[in-house]
Amino acid sequence: SETLHIVGGGMAGSEAAWQAANMGVDVVIHEMRPHVGTFAHRTGDLAEMVCSNSFRSDDDEQNAVGLLHWEMRAAGGLIMAMADRHRLPAGGALAVDRDPFARSVTAHLMNHPKIIVQHTEITSLPEGGHWIIATGPLTSEGLGQAIAAETGAQALAFFDAIAPIVYHDSIDMSRAWMQSRYDKGDTEEERTAYLNCPMDRDQYEAFIDALLVAEKTEFHEGETAGYFDGCLPIEVMAERGRETLRHGPMKPVGLTNPHQPEIKPWAVVQLRRDNALGTLYNIVGFQTKMKYGAQTSVFRMIPGLENAQFARLGGIHRNTFINSPTLLDAQMRLRTRPHVRFAGQITGVEGYVESAAMGLLAGRLAAAEILGRALPRVPQDSAMGALIHHITGGAEARTFQPMNVNFGLFRPVEGFKGGRRGRIDRYRAYTDRAKAAWSGWLEAQIADDMSFAP
Ligand code: FAD
Repeated sequence: SETLHIVGGGMAGSEAAWQAANMGVDVVIHEMRPHVGTFAHRTGDLAEMVCSNSFRSDDDEQNAVGLLHWEMRAAGGLIMAMADRHRLPAGGALAVDRDPFARSVTAHLMNHPKIIVQHTEITSLPEGGHWIIATGPLTSEGLGQAIAAETGAQALAFFDAIAPIVYHDSIDMSRAWMQSRYDKGDTEEERTAYLNCPMDRDQYEAFIDALLVAEKTEFHEGETAGYFDGCLPIEVMAERGRETLRHGPMKPVGLTNPHQPEIKPWAVVQLRRDNALGTLYNIVGFQTKMKYGAQTSVFRMIPGLENAQFARLGGIHRNTFINSPTLLDAQMRLRTRPHVRFAGQITGVEGYVESAAMGLLAGRLAAAEILGRALPRVPQDSAMGALIHHITGGAEARTFQPMNVNFGLFRPVEGFKGGRRGRIDRYRAYTDRAKAAWSGWLEAQIADDMSFAP
């Protein structure tokens, strides 16, 4: 059969190789380290964890990332098997002893009869064959340029400037309202794309004070070298002048507060719908280097967001990622070169677990294609399916930003009460539904599978 080439032996590339090889496909992993390094990696091992040593929550009933663990274990995932083997005590979280973890992943791949590891940097997009690009947030410059040449510079980002994302059902609509500025937009969908939170003068001044004193994080050494294009964090805008935000992302023009039509707000915070389901809203222009704890308390000062729950908090990091909703098809293939798939963080998911998960899918999809087998569609109600659906179609392409797995990406299940008890029942319904859907998808393939136990 034909060989599958995987560029990048990180979380995604390692899992993709394992899955494809276990389906019987010959795999070559092209990993540039240790010859070419990045500012964050320290070793030449595959699947190196560059920062924290946590795979986050392992709760597969109440947490979406825990559910993703469950689904990867069910699929015989190597990353999860080695994380479990090198687990460190950490309460409900899955903390990992990083060096033995990476060494065991490396050993399993090197010893696999169907896998060859080559330590080479790839600097162009391949013309033929079967490929998965899984070069991650720190994709090397040469390959980054080749991707930009193919996709157009607009469709490839070198930094996240992440605005915080809020769950719609945690926004107080007795204070906020839906309206686009100057009521722009021709369709109902466009007119309901924005939510607004008003501030009076005192609230605005207090908010600026809080921004100025909040704890911030610094860029890593080497992180901004040759790249940073100056998308300003809100706290830096506030430092430039107390009125800067009121003339920037918080300008109060073109909007009328239906709760108090006679009072003109001093400033307005806008949130924009972040997914087609309308379950997630991002705070427009609020990229920030504030620490997470500070963000939660500062953003809850915004009228309407007093009880906001965040699907993700804001940040600015070096991160190479493509505009997957426009560039990839539902099978993660580049539309303009279908023999090239993308996987991992470069597709616009965020995190070790999510990256490994997208590697798992890409590996299976690519192997099935090489073997001429038809796989059923990845079920949208699984955590895997919710993520792949989000990046390849569900997310708004115009404002596409990297995403962690979370229940806001799932199709809603109706009929649950509000409050804590209702939420517990609802999350349980999501995870039960997901496990059934994922198990069904795996069972449909078992007849063909020749899994090597890790
Ligand atoms: P990676 O794991 O980075 O793997 C990509 C691989 O491709 C690397 O081994 C790289 O050497 C190789 N490569 C790059 N270019 C080429 C090329 N041209 N040719 C050949 N090989 C190439 N996630 C978390 O969950 N928790 C964290 O705490 C966390 N902290 C982070 C801190 C930093 C500074 C960064 C940059 C990211 C962090 N992330 C964190 C995100 C994390 O990197 C990803 O979640 C995860 O490692 C991505 O998996 P991946 O396989 O897509 O990329």
